[in-house]
Amino acid sequence: MNKIVLSLVVAGVLAVSANAFNLGKYGEMKFEKANQNVYIMHGPPVNPSVENQGFMNNPAIIESKHGLIMIDPGGNYNVGQKILAEVEKVSKKPIIAIIDTHKHGDHWFAGKSMAEKYPDVKIYALQKMIDVSKAGEAQKWYDILERLSKNLKGTKEFRFPDIAIKNGDVLNIDGETFYIHSPVRAHTDTDVLIVHAQSKTLFLGDNLMKSRLGGFDESSSIIGNIKLLEEIKSAPELNLYVPGHGPSGKRDEAIDPFLHYMKTVVAGAKEAYSEDLEAYEIKPKVASQLKEYHNWDEFSPQLGKHLQKALLEIEQLED
Ligand SMILES: [Zn+2]
Repeated sequence: MNKIVLSLVVAGVLAVSANAFNLGKYGEMKFEKANQNVYIMHGPPVNPSVENQGFMNNPAIIESKHGLIMIDPGGNYNVGQKILAEVEKVSKKPIIAIIDTHKHGDHWFAGKSMAEKYPDVKIYALQKMIDVSKAGEAQKWYDILERLSKNLKGTKEFRFPDIAIKNGDVLNIDGETFYIHSPVRAHTDTDVLIVHAQSKTLFLGDNLMKSRLGGFDESSSIIGNIKLLEEIKSAPELNLYVPGHGPSGKRDEAIDPFLHYMKTVVAGAKEAYSEDLEAYEIKPKVASQLKEYHNWDEFSPQLGKHLQKALLEIEQLED
């Protein structure tokens, strides 16, 4: 091969890799066909960091006849630009709608990138998600994500959802049907779960996680989250279950690990309550019952907080 051809090949290879969404040790992020016309980019299931650029959720796109419907576009404007470039490798159709599963910014801040390119995009969320985000939750998450990832500076103008949806709604978007379920209180009090009817895919937002443990904030209920997952398990089985963080899968392989984790935490908290122990006193015993979770991201710090939260919920039930 002569030198000129060789240098063109090298330049070509470099151009391709420069065009990829590369996250260092986490590899290349791309959308993969998950189920019929559903494509998912599974982010690394770890805490936001400089290395992952604050990208760690699972943006999804559903291809309709004339456009794309997106669920949870991603964690900030800058990764949103990269996610958008990856969307275009799947389809050049416009993004016509976005559904945000809940108030936490690591799921929805990137919608600003999509809305900049497609100003007519309709962004859906629960009314309460819109209200609390505008009332300070978005700013709180901006500060958390900027501190951890250093990748949000100068992007503070939020693109809030503008169409309120509620429990029981059926959305028909360009021929695709979405059933909306909103539990009163589970991962937060602003959650929507979304069934894409045609592909029988359930998007659970952070009511399901795998390989990573996240926070249960003051608006959440661990007991409510358990009840929700048990209801889902007793409903007719769908084809695919998509967590907010971690790999998607069939019903039991996707749901059982997180459900078992939460049930073990609540059982530990009940024991602490009946024996008048503090959460930290029961933690070593509960940790020993959860050996298969020790390699989940944030296991030890989150277990302590989750036990405290579960204990609080049990105390409130008993009062
Ligand atoms: Zn969340």
